[in-house]
Amino acid sequence: MSFEKLADILFPSIEKTPEYYLEKYPKRNLKEGAVVCRYAPSPTGFQHIGGVFAALINERVASQSEGVFFLRIEDTDQKREVKGAIVDTIETMKNFGMNFNEGATGEETEVGNYGPYRQSLRKEIYSTFAKDLVKKGLAYPCFCTAEELNATREKQMAEKVTPGYHGEYATCRNISAEDAIKRIENGESYIIRLKSPGNPENRVEFHDLIKGDTSFPENNQDIVIIKSDGLPTYHFAHAIDDALMRTTHVIRGEEWLSSLPIHVQLFDVLGFDRPNYAHIPTIMKNDNGSKRKLSKRKDAEAAVSYYKEVGYPTESVIEYLLNIINSSYEDWRSENPDADYHEFPVALDKMSKSGALFDIVKLNDVSKDVISKFKADKVYNDYTNWAKEFDKEMFELVTAKEDMSKEMFNIDKEGPKPRKDFAKWDEVKEKIFYFFDELFYNETEENIELPKTLSLEVAKEVIKTYAKEFNFNAGSQEAWFDDLKAIGLNLGYCANRKEYKANPENYKGMISDVAGAVRAALSHRANTPDLYTIMQIMGEEKVRERFEKFL
Ligand code: GLU
Repeated sequence: MSFEKLADILFPSIEKTPEYYLEKYPKRNLKEGAVVCRYAPSPTGFQHIGGVFAALINERVASQSEGVFFLRIEDTDQKREVKGAIVDTIETMKNFGMNFNEGATGEETEVGNYGPYRQSLRKEIYSTFAKDLVKKGLAYPCFCTAEELNATREKQMAEKVTPGYHGEYATCRNISAEDAIKRIENGESYIIRLKSPGNPENRVEFHDLIKGDTSFPENNQDIVIIKSDGLPTYHFAHAIDDALMRTTHVIRGEEWLSSLPIHVQLFDVLGFDRPNYAHIPTIMKNDNGSKRKLSKRKDAEAAVSYYKEVGYPTESVIEYLLNIINSSYEDWRSENPDADYHEFPVALDKMSKSGALFDIVKLNDVSKDVISKFKADKVYNDYTNWAKEFDKEMFELVTAKEDMSKEMFNIDKEGPKPRKDFAKWDEVKEKIFYFFDELFYNETEENIELPKTLSLEVAKEVIKTYAKEFNFNAGSQEAWFDDLKAIGLNLGYCANRKEYKANPENYKGMISDVAGAVRAALSHRANTPDLYTIMQIMGEEKVRERFEKFL
């Protein structure tokens, strides 16, 4: 009876019962094997690439099984909350193609029958379950101050026992309900702890869907379930929310693996069925031969914002993350070059159990492939969207010449070996600047790149003749090249590598040097896509002007 009174004093305004909520949020009516899972970020402002990684795995697993994928905002740590972070997270997830079936859709909006999907709006629910535990003598108020807890910790260190609030050290465990009520009425502040029924001598066997079979000692810590601000801890909120939202699979970062004994115990004490768990390996990076976590402080690529700023298409990031999720993705992709990634079956049990290695060089390769498959119109749209925010000058130049820009993005695209010259949008400027006089004529002679076999002087010699004799309207790539070759032969350049190698003294160089000179005059670069097409896009007038200025 006295526990009941204590529960009423702790939660005077709570009138509902756990049964009420268990009925309100019934088991979902889904087909056999459908997975219900979630992405559950905390709105702390910084979005780590590991978050996108976790969300993608959850989204794939739910969608593949015709289950439900929902977004839950875990905002119970109000000190760490950053204004605007919820909307920013939702936007980011949308950009990465995460289609949530349910959950928060904005700061104040949501869809779905299992909400609220924002933990700070679920206080009454957590209180209801906590009140019920107190009533049953399974949870209790703890009045220990920070100083007292510190003193206990020090004593435990000295005695070489496991630190924490357990056994004889859990001093508030044994306060009678009557005494607790008195202290509450005296205005002492408190938190609510679980009265752990665990004994660390017993082991719990557990199967993690990624990590495989594990076992661990039962939890015996009287963990905090409700903090002094009345909000739940992560542990308690996780158990209540995932039970009431009918989550079948908790797929989350492996940093939570060590809390699993607590979570399993909470589900048991609360009388809930345990969900399946899958703990995702942390994203690691190779740092001079040693593996370490991708760090928010040291690695720009840890932040999701980085990919946007430098201009990786979200498609590339997803494609790359799928490569890390399942190593079989790479083979699948080469067998299905044009398939939608949604067709690849993600398998949790095929994930690497240790760290997932993040490699920016590999990301670049993947991204070049991905962009090479985009149509020119999409390249144009995505690039200008990026440039609008991150490179105003390029935005102005490219949009002012939309048709030309699209043609330029289309060079060497349609053939069997499409060009793969950029991995991210901030690399585009260097690859296309020469189409724009405003950028091209800003360059000095030092910027001119030539084939190793060619000096600037000789290049100018070549252009002197070429500019006079070339036929702009040759009609085809082949005819244009024949024309260039003829001019080159006349000038004493050789068309045959073997012949040239045998008697280099008989020639000024190779025909490739002639093309190199033309390329340098038009672009200042030694490597460009197809020169004939570049000239056609520039038009005869600009080409002639470039030759003149080159001389
Ligand atoms: N809010 C937790 C985090 O940000 C979510 C962990 C989970 O998925 O349960 O790490």
